[in-house]
Amino acid sequence: MLSIEYVYMSRTGKVEIDYTIVPLNELGKEEAALVKSALQARFTAHAPYSNFQVGAAALLADGTVVAGSNQENRSFPAGLCAERVCLYHASSNYPDTPIEMLAVVAFPAKSEVAEPAHPCGGCRQVMMEMQHKQRRPFKLLLLYPNDEVLVLEKASDLMPFPFESEI
Ligand SMILES: [Zn+2]
Repeated sequence: MLSIEYVYMSRTGKVEIDYTIVPLNELGKEEAALVKSALQARFTAHAPYSNFQVGAAALLADGTVVAGSNQENRSFPAGLCAERVCLYHASSNYPDTPIEMLAVVAFPAKSEVAEPAHPCGGCRQVMMEMQHKQRRPFKLLLLYPNDEVLVLEKASDLMPFPFESEI
């Protein structure tokens, strides 16, 4: 009688991502303009509960810039992060125009000092799906305090082991 024996062996691995931190005044012209758009967008945040204003701006392949800000709601789950407001707007109004890059900034209300704006897990998953939909990655720019910008060439680098396979 044939018997099949399965042997499971433990393995280890390591996930590494490439990133660059660039002073805001040393960013490329397009990148700097997009961060500026995100800075403007944060003033439209509706954030009476977190007092945390987030702005996002996406540069599309045809040069269009789409911006969004966090929109909170008394019914908390009904609110939405700035990144998703921005990306869903881009996807619904410019469905055939790929996103080239996304800039995100975050500030505590009444402060001019940025907080590191690392996107939440839900937004990372949405970025992953947007890349998958357009069949190419987009760049991610996150404003840090002291006017430094974290740059990732692929937004999906923030999402190892994603629910949907990486492009
Ligand atoms: Zn989010």
